[in-house]
Amino acid sequence: RAKEDGGGRHCLYEPSLHAHAEERRQLEFSLRNALDRDEFSVVYQPVVDAITEQVVSFEALLRWTSTEHGFVSPAKFIPLAEDTRLIVPIGEWVLRTACREAMNWPDNVKIAVNVSGEQLLDPYFSETVVGALSATGLPPHRLEIEVTESIFVRDGTTAQGTLENLMGIGCGVALDDFGTGYSSLGYLRRMRFSTIKVDRSFVQGAAKDNPESLAIVRAVVAMADSLEMSTTAEGVETEAELAMIRKLGCKKIQGYFFGRPMSATDALALFSPDRMARRLAS
Ligand code: C2E
Ligand code: MG
Ligand code: MG
Ligand code: MG
Repeated sequence: RAKEDGGGRHCLYEPSLHAHAEERRQLEFSLRNALDRDEFSVVYQPVVDAITEQVVSFEALLRWTSTEHGFVSPAKFIPLAEDTRLIVPIGEWVLRTACREAMNWPDNVKIAVNVSGEQLLDPYFSETVVGALSATGLPPHRLEIEVTESIFVRDGTTAQGTLENLMGIGCGVALDDFGTGYSSLGYLRRMRFSTIKVDRSFVQGAAKDNPESLAIVRAVVAMADSLEMSTTAEGVETEAELAMIRKLGCKKIQGYFFGRPMSATDALALFSPDRMARRLAS
């Protein structure tokens, strides 16, 4: 058709747009069957105390290996799952899986589960969480829900109500990727998060002596301290980043430097007597 039109202009544009939509359609089709086909798994990334370096929690991160598409990045399929609301049943599966696997870890180790706005606005979300806790026997105080600032933009009142409900039964709520979204201090006044997670971009910036990043991390830590919220630095990859984050007073640390996301079995092995003894000796 482009040839008949006598120009290559459309030819460059339309097919790529079309290919993109087609790829998305195929991905969506596969995503609809992924739960039934048992294509999901959950990996766990350790979060350590900044001072003692003991593991205090794990963050559950969803992985999808599709029969048709192979490994698909969460950056690609999570937004698609959100748009199609498939994240509601998928998220419930993550919650149950993570709570069940966390039951094998020491009692003082928490499990953090990411929750999207679509899940939080689902009228049954609180019941879903309570159901996962009672089915697995995990005490509520060992579960931390991670939300991003974006949930307060759409329907802040409903989101806040649900989160307060969950905090009422003892769950923690962490504010994820802090500083990257539509940051407003209003909701920090209204809600007591258990943890503020400082986004990786600020961690990297601070370690490079970027004055803006340094000032922001300092301010966030000071604010969290006086509001009695904890802080986690995300994406700590190097010794230099670790040193800077410690100096700035972040309470907890997460990142490749301490551990990549790993299988439940590998997570459990971190607590084997053998491994603990070696750590203490080193
Ligand atoms: P997030 O919640 O901010 O998770 C942290 C992401 O940073 C993870 O990416 C993790 O693998 C990555 N990361 C951790 N440490 C480092 C580091 O030192 N360096 C670098 N470069 N990256 C690091 P992942 O697993 O690809 O997940 C991406 C996002 O997908 C998550 O961001 C979260 O928003 C979303 N997500 C993952 N699992 C779930 C889920 O079960 N439900 C929902 N609703 N969202 C999820
Ligand atoms: Mg998270
Ligand atoms: Mg994050
Ligand atoms: Mg993120």
